[in-house]
Amino acid sequence: MKVAEALAAIETFDLRHQALLGEQAEAAQRTKTDPTVRQLRQRRAALDTQVQQQASALKQLELEVAELAGRVKSHEKAIYDGSVRHPADLQRRQHELETLRVKIQGLEETELSQMEAQEQTSAELVEVRAQLIEREQEVERLRAADRANAPKLAAEILAGEEERRQLAESLAPSQLRTYERTVARRRPAVAKVVNGTCSGCRLPLPSRLLQEARQDQLVTCENCERILLL
Ligand SMILES: [Zn+2]
Repeated sequence: MKVAEALAAIETFDLRHQALLGEQAEAAQRTKTDPTVRQLRQRRAALDTQVQQQASALKQLELEVAELAGRVKSHEKAIYDGSVRHPADLQRRQHELETLRVKIQGLEETELSQMEAQEQTSAELVEVRAQLIEREQEVERLRAADRANAPKLAAEILAGEEERRQLAESLAPSQLRTYERTVARRRPAVAKVVNGTCSGCRLPLPSRLLQEARQDQLVTCENCERILLL
């Protein structure tokens, strides 16, 4: 294998290696709490609290209405059973009765709109719960796939490292250094020569360089510094 070919193969391994490590890192990330799941759980907790608060506010309203209704009843009883004799007393009671009825009506309207709000919150809660279950199942599926894939992935990474080591052994340290230097600046570090031009920067190459490359020397493009592969 020519030097440039070996370096191109090393670059292929390196890219593959990076991708495999990336896959491993993503799988590790998926073992942690999923951001969407966390968000949905927070939303669910907030809605749970809201529904409870709405329910106790409604309960409070119902008690108030019941209390006022009780007072209405006692006034009505007093007015209609003839126990109120004084016209002034009668008038006071009738006035209070009117006030109580208006109050009750107001409270009942509030109750109605609060019930509607509670229904909306409950409906949203049902929706969020369903979304959460769906997302949790999706995450679990992904994790199961990760677990099943982990041994194969690890083996692939090890095999790749071993192949790269063998390839690297066939090269001189200075050639590897040139590759490492180039890789740090350019991707891909190894560029094919196509019709006498560098495929990395698309500029024509001097025939002197092409000649050297043909003799299996490590040649780099004078323009983009990539390692040239004939
Ligand atoms: Zn070039």
